[in-house]
Amino acid sequence: MKEARFYDRLENHRVQCRLCPHDCVIADGARGVCAVRYNAGGVLYTLVADRVISRHLDPIEKKPLFHFYPGSQSYSIATVGCNLRCDFCQNWEISQWPRERLPKHLDAGPVGEGAEPLCPRLADLDNTVPGEPVTPAQIVQGALASGARSIAYTYTEPTIFYELAYETACLAREAGLANVFITNGYINEAPQHELATVLDAANVDLKFFRQSSYSHLSRVKLRPVLDAIARYQALGVWLEVTTLIIPGVNDSDAELRDIARFIGSVSPEIPWHVSRFHGAYEMTRVASTPAETLRRAADIGEEAGLRYIYRGNLRGAGGEDTLCHQCGKRLIQRFGFQLVANEIRGGQCPACGTRVSGVGLG
Ligand code: SF4
Repeated sequence: MKEARFYDRLENHRVQCRLCPHDCVIADGARGVCAVRYNAGGVLYTLVADRVISRHLDPIEKKPLFHFYPGSQSYSIATVGCNLRCDFCQNWEISQWPRERLPKHLDAGPVGEGAEPLCPRLADLDNTVPGEPVTPAQIVQGALASGARSIAYTYTEPTIFYELAYETACLAREAGLANVFITNGYINEAPQHELATVLDAANVDLKFFRQSSYSHLSRVKLRPVLDAIARYQALGVWLEVTTLIIPGVNDSDAELRDIARFIGSVSPEIPWHVSRFHGAYEMTRVASTPAETLRRAADIGEEAGLRYIYRGNLRGAGGEDTLCHQCGKRLIQRFGFQLVANEIRGGQCPACGTRVSGVGLG
């Protein structure tokens, strides 16, 4: 537990968190929407700055990042918590844990004058949040020992564990490791600008292009996500975008075209991952996305001028190879998350010499 960053103090011991576009005004003795930032006596604390709920070594392709050191491993960490509550969340057991499982009575009522950092309620909350105790230096040591090329802040939303992620990312940079965010894009401008100084790549979920869907299924606004995507690009962070295509929700030609055109307006070089939905959390009764829908989405992306489109979650059924957008030569062959062959040389197609967008491609 430590004092959070990016917040303002208000009257009556209230605070306003400025980390993400919820801009939560939090009363004394209460938590923000993400449920891992707690106001104790007018001081905002993060409950997840010193513990992780998962640590795994993953192929970078699993993030998915297909144009960033292909074939490398990424040391992947997460804490519990998220600033979205998506009905279709694939990692809901950990992302929604603080909201659903932290005892509500620990939130009730002010904790008293004087911002005592270890007031009983805050200490109880702190003891209840699950995770393996860890420091940023230990995460970096673990990543180096594993042979990873990068550290991925992933599985849940890394914005809500910003303090841990940023400190770790600074140390990782010094140690020669890259940093990647796998994110819903719900972050305010000031933290994003700071983060970009140590962030090498991001995969941002653009879940829908309709405010009604973001409102009903994820409980947030669309506009800040679009703004964050454009800012990552402007800030020079290598960017890929993922859309989980949910039957009957965001699979219309019109919405897919809107998404593809928006990505193309930011840059046609941004890889777009259209990914198959499988029932999860509160949407277990919705059927999985037909493979044909992903093919249609890929065609729409191509019509919109996107150069790199990938079909994901198809369990090795294709659609994951990188092709030269100029001559069509297969440059990278993948099977699931595995890189089978990479023919890119000096960042170029060996057949026609066209430059391939990305970082550390070979
Ligand atoms: S990170 Fe976002 S959701 Fe969490 S307290 Fe801050 S503004 Fe609210």
